[in-house]
Amino acid sequence: MKALITGPMLAAAVVLAIPAAASPPQGSGTAWDIVADLTTEVGPRLDGSEREAAARAWAAARLKALGFQNVREEPFTIRGFVRGEDRARLLAPAVQPLAITALGYSPATPAKGIEGEVAYFPTLDALKAAPAGSLAGRIAFVDHAMRANQDGSGYGPFGNVRRQGPGIAATKGAIAIIIRSAGTDNHRNPHTGVSSFPDGVKPIPAGAVSNPDADLIARTAAAGRSMRVALTLTSHPQDGMPSGNVVGDLVGSNPALAPIIVACHLDSWDLGTGAIDDGAGCAIVTAAALKAHAAGTQRTIRVLWAGSEELGGWGGIAYAKAHANEPHALAMESDFGADRVWRVKLNLADEALAARIAAALNPLGIVRGDAKANGGEDVGAIIEAQKLAVIDLNQDGTRYFDYHHTPDDTLDKVDPVQLQQNVDAWAIVLGIVGNAESDLKPVG
Ligand code: ZN
Ligand code: ZN
Repeated sequence: MKALITGPMLAAAVVLAIPAAASPPQGSGTAWDIVADLTTEVGPRLDGSEREAAARAWAAARLKALGFQNVREEPFTIRGFVRGEDRARLLAPAVQPLAITALGYSPATPAKGIEGEVAYFPTLDALKAAPAGSLAGRIAFVDHAMRANQDGSGYGPFGNVRRQGPGIAATKGAIAIIIRSAGTDNHRNPHTGVSSFPDGVKPIPAGAVSNPDADLIARTAAAGRSMRVALTLTSHPQDGMPSGNVVGDLVGSNPALAPIIVACHLDSWDLGTGAIDDGAGCAIVTAAALKAHAAGTQRTIRVLWAGSEELGGWGGIAYAKAHANEPHALAMESDFGADRVWRVKLNLADEALAARIAAALNPLGIVRGDAKANGGEDVGAIIEAQKLAVIDLNQDGTRYFDYHHTPDDTLDKVDPVQLQQNVDAWAIVLGIVGNAESDLKPVG
């Protein structure tokens, strides 16, 4: 009798014939589990959304399970942003779809969309130089030349196209603005991120297109061809949305010494799953705090998983206000992905202690930087209010802005080996400062 392959047997044969996909990196340990579980069980967690609230509940449960004490959610209210459907098309000289995303706090266009002639600006300075009223009825396009580099310093000046461009275009009469994404990849992924409009300026719809789409617009402009764009953005701001911080302590053995605060942010942009921005940061600071505490620390290590960083650092501001009357000794933050730490910067008056920390990090390939540490968005307000000592562990940012604020910010971009190097570096620092009995003061 002939063998007949039918039903389940056939299905099994077909499954076996499919070649395995490239396997994603698989890690293990506390840090990996935090970023893997947060991105799997909660996913994107935009400021003010129901998913950000779900993330707070998830985070509080996880911190308690890991042995943190005094775990609590500290709610506050923000002006949030609701993602709708964002679409754009080049209508002339050729009809082409544009991969676009609305920028944070962009108002919506009318539901039927808007159309306008494109005014191309190669730089933000060129936009600034445009005469008042010269953009009336037109859609501004602002280009820039951000490139990848190790310290991520391009994000400051080129990111200003996103932060400031919409407000400037609005003051000159533009009906909308489109920018080249603040990103360094060549994928068809636009990079979102927050924008703002100065007081008294009527906000205009603002979106970012992917780099290949921006290249198309730049080529067309260079050829001297006029362009028209159709734009429909239904994303929009919304007042009175709930957000909050999650805080937990690993209580030290000497209550007379002020605590160390280590921070990350729990919210994320909604296009990806917030694995590198900033699930990895929460994973790193939490795993390192546990590791240092387990080895013995005199000072309490407080973990702050801040809410609503992306739309304006609202969590850091709320924390500084809520904890203004409590002493803090030193602040640190992790919010630059999961790639390895390559440099330490210290703002510590005790130079012997600073040198000891730098020497202890040396075997991990970490060098001491000349510039002063400055913390970040989630600890900036408390550092400023209390004049705290600060240590920065700078991560390699070479590929960070390929994925930042895009659909590509997903778990597979986290390299478990580099993630663990971060945890080891942080644990070394927390072990030293957590047992430093001298006053931890900044240089200035
Ligand atoms: Zn971030
Ligand atoms: Zn971000």
